[in-house]
Amino acid sequence: MTFNTLGLTEPLLRAVSEQGYTTPTPIQLQAIPAVLSGRDLMAAAQTGTGKTAGFTLPLLQRLSIGERVQANSVRALVLTPTRELAAQVGESVAAYGKHLPLRSAVIFGGVSINPQMMALRRGVDVLIATPGRLLDLYNQNAVKFSQLEILVLDEADRMLDMGFIRDIRKIMALLPKRRQTLMFSATFSDDIRGLAQDLLHKPTFIEASPRNAAANTVRQWVHPVDQKRKPELLSHLVHHHGWEQVLVFTRTKHGANRVAAKLEQDGITAAAIHGNKSQGARTRALADFKQGTVRVLVATDIASRGLDIDQLPQVVNFDLPNVAEDYVHRIGRTGRAGANGQAVSLVSIDERLLLSGIEKLIRQVLPRETVEGFDLTSSISATTSGQHHSPTPTKPAAKTGFGTPQGKSALPAKQRSSRAGRQHRNLAG
Ligand code: AMP
Repeated sequence: MTFNTLGLTEPLLRAVSEQGYTTPTPIQLQAIPAVLSGRDLMAAAQTGTGKTAGFTLPLLQRLSIGERVQANSVRALVLTPTRELAAQVGESVAAYGKHLPLRSAVIFGGVSINPQMMALRRGVDVLIATPGRLLDLYNQNAVKFSQLEILVLDEADRMLDMGFIRDIRKIMALLPKRRQTLMFSATFSDDIRGLAQDLLHKPTFIEASPRNAAANTVRQWVHPVDQKRKPELLSHLVHHHGWEQVLVFTRTKHGANRVAAKLEQDGITAAAIHGNKSQGARTRALADFKQGTVRVLVATDIASRGLDIDQLPQVVNFDLPNVAEDYVHRIGRTGRAGANGQAVSLVSIDERLLLSGIEKLIRQVLPRETVEGFDLTSSISATTSGQHHSPTPTKPAAKTGFGTPQGKSALPAKQRSSRAGRQHRNLAG
């Protein structure tokens, strides 16, 4: 299957080929014709599936016909939860729309509002915005929605998690009723379904990967370790494996700072990215990471949303997230658009319930591998997680607990044994 068969026009096909894409991803195969048909869409797709091009390409095609945009008006609005995602969607819109006479702008909080007001003055065909700043601009009469034709809610689940529901409802009340609405979400809670019911009219449903399933190109495993030894283990892993580009997740901003500082102490270039950092600092850290001058980027969940780093090979969960869905988002940073990736979680005894929740959600039991010299000192009982557990209780793995039922490893046997042989003792086996 190629892009030529999807009904896209020449300027878009040219832009796609300039991006180097030859084959549409599964979400693109489904979303592009659906959006071109003008219908509402509800899509289950996490970052890394190619969802941005999936909605941007047909959206640009629909905007390439129709009325010219008027002063301060907007024809398509893309709402995103974070500044980073807004900026990245903005880059995609600019790249895919480069051969079309359409204008786009990106607006988000934390930076001066004046240039954004200027950008809106002539009107923009595609506006990519975070909800709060959009409402600020609306309240200052800088943006009008009477010409709005298409609304996209990107990472809708995350917008709800971040408490944007009131802002979203306020924005909805300002938009014309007659419009095309597209909603993308990695996970589907009851709240998301409720929102979809209110906002979408007879939507087409599409799903790129099984619901709540982690991308199957990602190899995932767990290193049981004492909480206090995690920083040391992280440095060891980066050195030992020679990882050159690692995204590390921590639960808190302070945690991110501490981990980055410890890595630097151990001679590993690192930067932290989180909500307390200025927009400039976040953009710089991301650019340094992409260029390879920073080897490890340490991020909180919110800061990491939508980070678009091509073919990121390695994700480390320094802490497990409190919300199991965030695990799926986190590992969505690797194994993107068909590339292979690895995700390892450093799990301490106090996190075993979180681990159990994650395994239930992803319906997989993650293999446990102890790193030599980092054995747990305390004895823990096995987790009882994952819907596919064998009904008979399995033996806790040695005296460290964190038992993995036999034969349920997420890794193919070959990878398991080769990795175990290199360094690890696979407690599952
Ligand atoms: P997204 O899920 O939209 O964040 O996209 C994930 C990554 O996949 C981005 O880096 C895109 O540039 C890339 N990508 C999107 N579509 C394709 C495609 N058809 N072929 C190869 N890479 C793609």
